[in-house]
Amino acid sequence: MTTPRCPGQDLRYWTPEDIYEAACAHCGGAVEFFKDDLRRKCPHCGQYTVNPHNDMACAAWCQYAPECLAQLGREMPDAGSSA
Ligand SMILES: [Zn+2]
Repeated sequence: MTTPRCPGQDLRYWTPEDIYEAACAHCGGAVEFFKDDLRRKCPHCGQYTVNPHNDMACAAWCQYAPECLAQLGREMPDAGSSA
């Protein structure tokens, strides 16, 4: 199963700050997130926890954003301008 890689999330343009740890929502353990991770499986408790820092900035222009967001049950951050 392949998903088109979002061009706004190209690793070549990342900096070390784009990878960070956040506390698991379930157990509070440290979970390593990439900035484009929407959720990640906690290595401590095995449950999925949502990335608190994902801003979905690329969704404002990415052609795949509607499908991305639909899969996540999220709405476009800048909706309403086009029919
Ligand atoms: Zn956990």
